[in-house]
Amino acid sequence: MTSPEPTDNGGEQPLRNKIAFLNGIFLLVAVLAGGLGFYRWWISHPLAAIDFLIAGSGALLWLYLRRHPGRVELVANLALGLGLILFFAVFLLAPSQGSRLSLFFLHSAAAFFLKGTRTGLWWLAASIVAIIAGNFVQGAESALSGIDIGTTVLYLVALAGVFYYHGTLKSDEARRLREEDLRRQIRARLEHEKQLERLAHYDALTGVPNRILLFDRLAQALARAKRDQGLLAVCYLDLDGFKPINDRFGHSVGDRVLVEVTRRIRETVREDDTVARLGGDEFVVLLVGLEAAEECVGSLQRVLERVGEPIAIDGQALSLSVSIGVALYPSDEEDAETLVRHADQAMYLAKLAGKNRFHLFDPASDRRARSHHQLLQEIRQGLAGGEFELYFQPKLDLAARRLAGAEALIRWNHPRRGLLLPADFMRAVENTDLEIELGEWVIATAVGHLRRWREAGLRIQVAINISAYHLQSAGFVPKLTEQARRYAPQPGERWLQIEVLETAALDDIARISALIAACRELGIGFALDDFGSGYSSLTYLSQLDVDTLKIDQSFVRDMQSDKGDHAVVLGIIALARAFEMHCVAEGVEDEGIHQALLQMGCELGQGNGIGLPMPATELPGWRPSALAGGFDLIS
Ligand code: C2E
Ligand code: MG
Ligand code: MG
Repeated sequence: MTSPEPTDNGGEQPLRNKIAFLNGIFLLVAVLAGGLGFYRWWISHPLAAIDFLIAGSGALLWLYLRRHPGRVELVANLALGLGLILFFAVFLLAPSQGSRLSLFFLHSAAAFFLKGTRTGLWWLAASIVAIIAGNFVQGAESALSGIDIGTTVLYLVALAGVFYYHGTLKSDEARRLREEDLRRQIRARLEHEKQLERLAHYDALTGVPNRILLFDRLAQALARAKRDQGLLAVCYLDLDGFKPINDRFGHSVGDRVLVEVTRRIRETVREDDTVARLGGDEFVVLLVGLEAAEECVGSLQRVLERVGEPIAIDGQALSLSVSIGVALYPSDEEDAETLVRHADQAMYLAKLAGKNRFHLFDPASDRRARSHHQLLQEIRQGLAGGEFELYFQPKLDLAARRLAGAEALIRWNHPRRGLLLPADFMRAVENTDLEIELGEWVIATAVGHLRRWREAGLRIQVAINISAYHLQSAGFVPKLTEQARRYAPQPGERWLQIEVLETAALDDIARISALIAACRELGIGFALDDFGSGYSSLTYLSQLDVDTLKIDQSFVRDMQSDKGDHAVVLGIIALARAFEMHCVAEGVEDEGIHQALLQMGCELGQGNGIGLPMPATELPGWRPSALAGGFDLIS
């Protein structure tokens, strides 16, 4: 049985109206039947007794319903049952339209109340059957009076109306129920979606936004900062010393530590800021609405302090700290992903710098590092792709004007940028494995050219530039020995010279001396390049067994006009002689310098005035300008 609960049955007000209506009917029945009873008392006492009985039950129902409006359905059922019995009694014992009329009201009101309920339906069926049966019984004894027929028709029409109404209400009710059900389903789905959304956007352990929501908020914050020209700090946090806690005390303690750390971080930042957990012990804090970059320093300092305070768990005081990397918008004008990545990189630097600190990302140094990295990558590819080439610059015996050797100078035939000089790329490889790879390539390539020239009838000493890092690398001598075996010099042939920058840091003089001695065995000599531009010259000169000094071109170029340079060149020539070394002047750009060097006693010269660096294929055909015939070979 569907109970007409106030909220369920279309609201409280209609129900109250229905109860009032039912009560009105009960009162009407009481008054009507009571009045009829008084009137009929003089005619027949039994009839009047029935009237009073009806009036009494009407009054009782009225009273009861007034006191217990919640039991309205029970009262309606009672009224229907009572009405049906009394109806029978009146119908059989005392046919009187007055009583039947009052019963009619009672009956239809109660049925009306119970409309739409299963019991209401049963009562209706019972009433109709009873009325028809009653009329039938009465009709069998005597002819039906006009009142009988009238009241019966009235009853049937009214009850059929209620019955019909009952049907429409039933479908209304069904629709209402269906809608209710639908609403319930929608509510459940919305609730479910909300839950899914929570799972998708929030970290299950700490309840703070996860990566997805972080990026959502970051994108919004970026848009806002762009519009308002505001400041935004993306801080990447990684706990220091979390893993040992997790390993030692287990994951549940680790989880509690994470929850506590999250709470502390949230406490230190503002309401508008976002604290997100990316997973593990990594968090991102988004500081928004900053007026100046310095403002975030205060927040970060607080985070460092708060996270650094001991965490008490199960009577243990656990300590950890946090390393923070910060990317600031708009000084780092990048998209959300890149900002987070930059903050991550800065965090890594904070760790490297000793943890428990923050480090600000520097876009300029990042750009430098990135282009450096890119260049290294390109060099590596270029080396594999055969883009490097050795050019050779002739060295001249200044007095005899004959070719005394050639210096191998590396060039890069860059597919996009054209021919590149060492200054364009050698700095990038300094002190890297790539520098060694390039050096090995230079040695192998120079040896290859030497072999080909020899086959073509040209014997010449080639000087190659080797960096200090390469020179001091493991395996240098064995690899060089291998190359010497490839070339197979004649006994005593000085076929190769290694030029080392005078400025190069040669740490272990004893080791270098041994190396020079080993090379000498292979017919390989040493030259100190750019001599005079460094400051450790005399140490090297006295301790290293080099055989050549190359005077730095900066002194040579201006020595005719600059007294100081002139003195330096003279000094170096004298030094070379004193140490029994050869001397090569670089930067011989014209005949004047050539002549001056000759007068100063310099033996060898190299420079654009003598010959520009040229591809290996051109060297055999090269002739010194003042020398018409072929050139002599240096032994
Ligand atoms: P370096 O060893 O002192 O080489 C001489 C440099 O001076 C060469 O520059 C050459 O082209 C330039 N030069 C020669 N004569 C003149 C002149 O009369 N006037 C002027 N202004 N310049 C002259 P390059 O080829 O650009 O090489 C520059 C430096 O790069 C070299 O200086 C050397 O230190 C280094 N380098 C060159 N090739 C290699 C290599 O294969 N390996 C290594 N590690 N370094 C190399
Ligand atoms: Mg050189
Ligand atoms: Mg030089």
